[in-house]
Order: sequence, then structure tokens, then C-alpha cells
Amino acid sequence: MVAELLPPERVLMGPGPSNVHPHVLRAMSTPLLGHLDPAFLTIMNETMDLLRKVYQTENKLTIAMSGTGSAGMETVFVNLVEPGDKVIVGVNGLFGTRMVDVAERCGATVVQISAPWGEIIEPQKVKEALDSHPDAKLVAVVHAETSTGVRQPLEKISEIVHNTDALLVCDMVTSLGGCPTEIDKLKIDAAYSGTQKCLSAPPGLAPVTMSDRAVEVMNNRKSKVQSWYLDLSMIVSYWGEERSYHHTAPITMAYSLRESLRLIVNEGVENVYARHALYGEALQQGLEAMGLKLLVNKEHRLHQLTSVCIPEGVNDAKVRSRLLEKYDLEIGGGLGELKGKVWRIGLMGYNARQQNVTLMLSALEDILL
Ligand code: PLP
Repeated sequence: MVAELLPPERVLMGPGPSNVHPHVLRAMSTPLLGHLDPAFLTIMNETMDLLRKVYQTENKLTIAMSGTGSAGMETVFVNLVEPGDKVIVGVNGLFGTRMVDVAERCGATVVQISAPWGEIIEPQKVKEALDSHPDAKLVAVVHAETSTGVRQPLEKISEIVHNTDALLVCDMVTSLGGCPTEIDKLKIDAAYSGTQKCLSAPPGLAPVTMSDRAVEVMNNRKSKVQSWYLDLSMIVSYWGEERSYHHTAPITMAYSLRESLRLIVNEGVENVYARHALYGEALQQGLEAMGLKLLVNKEHRLHQLTSVCIPEGVNDAKVRSRLLEKYDLEIGGGLGELKGKVWRIGLMGYNARQQNVTLMLSALEDILL
């Protein structure tokens, strides 16, 4: 006999996935529908409307791609970039580096704007890059860099990019549902996200939104999109009026997204951001009060993800495994050049609550002191 699957119950306070809201789990256990059932098509329409509210946009093309956040990243690049195009990418962490890789695989010539991990991409550097490369098709930055905990201010960068013909692309994997995304106000042309961070759903869908300008760029492509699976020109026919089959939608994941967005909209997006800010700051103040140093300066710190510098002489892996064993509490280690140097603590979505702040501070105090 094979034993039933019984995973331990953890508090997921790493960089994602975060814990799934119980209502989302409940929605996932409701009956399966066919992907062309009228009842499912209604759920898709409702999901698009809810996604627009949470992304803060009126963009018609606002859908959920099948796959994790990286599928969202690939969707944006494979559809907007053609071989030989020039793109400018801000690199101040792991996910900027991944965007460079993806853009290069699309045949783009990539101009990188680098900043130290833990700092923002300075708008002036974007201006200089665009002045030197006025033919750039797009500028891409990570709004919430999960590898460092930096919140990238977008206002000035948007102004600079929109003084040219380039499009502005933003990675919003960790920002959607955790802090304002303001797609329309900030004139962001393309953004992508993932379900497993501040949306409190499991990993598996990548919400994507594109402005009319971005759609026009896609419509004027000379070459076929190199990925069949992620080709938006076909996928929008399934999400739009034609409802033509492209691939079988992950039905249960769609339920989870609809429910997670419903919860956010019912709470009120502004209230959700305020909740992340309140508990994120409480956690950060508590960590500093324990004498721990945070990687990112206060002005550019995310509330939903905090990078803590590992104190000298403390064993990174040992602390993380003690937290898991003793408290069923997961935090993340550092990635790339921050490996072994920071811990990454998430307070995302459903997890952004007082009890998790208290648990994290008391558990860390117990293990460190
Ligand atoms: N971009 C950012 C900022 C992320 O934090 C992540 C995942 O952590 C991704 C992209 C990739 O998403 P996924 O791991 O869901 O494919």
C-alpha cells in the first residue's frame, strides 16, 4: 500500500510560494468544468475584469497565461521582441538577469543597465541608455526584485521611456496584489506576474496585461512568434469573443485565481496595500530592533519581501533548517551574489498578518540569541 499524501503544514514566509488563502483552496476543490463550458467562459470573463481591477488598468488584453511567472516573462518578450530588435534591461538582481537571458533567446540585442544588487535602477541611467540607443524597442525593469527586496520607483522611468517610442515592460511577479501597480497611471505597456506571491494562490498562472500600444507592436510583427504555446495572437482568440481552442486551460488554477482576486477586490486594493505596508514595516522594525541589518535602504524597501543581512558567524543553512524543523516556518536564502549573505522573508497576500510578524520575530529571536 502506498501511503496517502500528507505534506506538513508550513508557514511559507520565504520569497514565494506563500500560503494559499483557505477560500482559494476551497474554490480549487469545486467541480471541474470543460474549458469551453459556458460556465467556465463566464469565470474567465470575471477573472479578466477582476485582474484589471487588481492591476489597476483598463487594458483589454489582460489575461492569465498557463505557467508560472517565468511564462509571463517569456510571453511578454516572445510577443514583443523580434530577432534583431534592441532592448534595454535594468539588472539589479536575479530577475533582471533572467530577462536579459529571455530577451537574448528572442534574438534581441540587449543593452544592460546595471546597478548593485540591493539598489534601484536610477532613472538617469535609463535616460543615458535611451540617448545612446534611440532605436531601442523597449525598456524592461523589475518592479519588485524578489532576489533583493528592492521596490523600483517607476514614475520617472516611465516619463523618460515615453519621451521616446520605446515600450515600458515591468516584471510585477512580486508586486501584483502587494503594492500599487498602477498600470494605466504609470503608462506601463506590458506587465506580467505570478499567482503564488501576493495573490495567495498556488504557482501555475501568469497574469499578463498589455497596453493598446503594445498590442499594435505585436500586430505589426514581421516574423512569427517563436513560441507556439505563448503566442498571444492565438491565445487572445480563446479569451476573446471567438473562444477558439488553443490549449486546455488549467481549470482549477483559473478557479484559484478568480477567488484570490475576488478576495482582494472585496477587501479593497488600497486596503490590501495598506495591510502589506503595516505588517511589512512592523516586521522590519522588529528585525532592526533585534540588531539585524536590512539590505535595502528604507526608501526603496518592499513591504512584502525583506532581505536581512546574515550576521557574521551565523550559519545560514542551520538557521533556516531550525526554523523549518522547530516552527514549520520557511524563509528563503540568498540567490546569486547574495547567496549565504541574506535571508529573504516574505509577508505576502494572506500571510501579511500580525500573527506571522510575531511568529517570525519570536522564532528568529529564539534561534539566534
Ligand atoms: N520575476 C520575479 C520578480 C520573481 O520573483 C519570480 C519568482 O520568484 C519570477 C520572475 C519567476 O517566476 P516563477 O518562479 O513563478 O516562474
